[in-house]
Amino acid sequence: MLKDQDRIFTNLYGMHDRSLKGAMARGHWDNTAGLLALGRDGIIQIMKDSGLRGRGGAGFPTGMKWSFMPKQSDGRPSYLVVNADESEPGTCKDREIMRHDPHTLIEGCLVAGFAMGASAAYIYIRGEYVREKEALQAAIDECYDAGLIGRNACKSGYDFDVYLHHGAGAYICGEETALLESLEGKKGMPRMKPPFPAGSGLYGCPTTVNNVESIAVAPTILRRGAAWFASFGRPNNAGVKLFGMSGHINTPCVIEESMSIPMRELIEKHGGGVRGGWKNLKAVIPGGASCPVIPADKCEDAIMDYDGMRALQSSFGTACLIVMDQSTDIIKAIWRLSKFFKHESCGQCTPCREGTGWMMRVMDRLVRGEAEVEEIDLLLSVTKQVEGHTICALGDAAAWPIQGLIRHYREEIEDRIKAKKTGRMGAMAAE
Ligand code: NAD
Ligand code: SF4
Repeated sequence: MLKDQDRIFTNLYGMHDRSLKGAMARGHWDNTAGLLALGRDGIIQIMKDSGLRGRGGAGFPTGMKWSFMPKQSDGRPSYLVVNADESEPGTCKDREIMRHDPHTLIEGCLVAGFAMGASAAYIYIRGEYVREKEALQAAIDECYDAGLIGRNACKSGYDFDVYLHHGAGAYICGEETALLESLEGKKGMPRMKPPFPAGSGLYGCPTTVNNVESIAVAPTILRRGAAWFASFGRPNNAGVKLFGMSGHINTPCVIEESMSIPMRELIEKHGGGVRGGWKNLKAVIPGGASCPVIPADKCEDAIMDYDGMRALQSSFGTACLIVMDQSTDIIKAIWRLSKFFKHESCGQCTPCREGTGWMMRVMDRLVRGEAEVEEIDLLLSVTKQVEGHTICALGDAAAWPIQGLIRHYREEIEDRIKAKKTGRMGAMAAE
């Protein structure tokens, strides 16, 4: 188990003094100017060496992303944008940082913004996060008053502003380019990539979009060193990490652990175990709604990191597990996700707009057992036509849970169809 001294976030210590005074007492904002003195290249090299991969879900190497920002200004300002639009079903880890430890994020904005030559950070926070917005704004105000950000931030000679923007509740605005459109005051619709934001981002200027956790861990990595961070987990999967757990476990929580922790250890040591015991486990969605479901027999030895989840034909995503016990109607659970993605599709590209509706309608009938067995393969083929053929990842996110369902629970789907035909349909599935 991760030792207390290796945890970055205070919510795990049970000390919730989120004020500047409390943050300073825990070592944040301690000689931040000294961190900036490492220089742009020095900071980026440490981040690269730490092995930190983006904590929003995609896992793109953070230091490498920062290095894409132009070294020389061509007259355009550069921006850091923090994606705090945490909306993935089952995911609420960034919320803990903003609620309990907002100064880690603001200090992170300053060091990350400096490393990429940005003049300002825009934090785009999810519309429903009202209390978190208040906590963050209070912390930003404290930092301005104390001279930690703004003109001559931390007396470093560097000017850096931090703005908080409150979203309006659309899931798609968590997609980085839709987020940029929304920040610019337009409807949140994803842009084609490339160009990636570092080439043309907010207002057409060089921009890097990072997740809250990725930015909030940066000052601690700089203080404790790349080797410290890289010593957790395994190669390609380094660091300490926030994990969320919800569903049929005894103590749902967000906790901080070492990367590569076994899934069973995570659930049993921190989540209080599966309701009714490990034998009662049916399946786990490992990292938010878009990650294919993993059946119980494969959870036993599952390693919670990027490679571990890929080996099980799933993905690590946001590292927020949705645990389902034997009472779960797994077809209905995945149907609910289909409904979500159909609702949240921005409708801009045909495979996603039409495909999400089409997939949901077949799932509607599968839940009730009213489809034909042959439609299972038809549905699978539609998911393949959506996957990889859309402007943003929402199309993939809608296709993958269904692929996982068919991969692992085809027999259960077929049984339901047969039961319906023979009039043996269970009451729950018939609802
Ligand atoms: P992506 O792989 O397209 O990009 C990840 C990041 O790397 C982006 O910032 C992108 O600009 C950058 N990038 C990728 N390739 C690049 C290149 N060649 N050059 C420069 N930069 C490059 O993934 P995505 O669409 O940004 O994110 C998808 C992930 O988001 C999913 O894995 C899902 O788990 C996660 N997600 C998270 C939430 C949440 O609430 N945290 C919500 C929805 C989805
Ligand atoms: Fe919009 Fe879906 Fe296309 Fe993304 S994949 S741009 S959400 S229609």
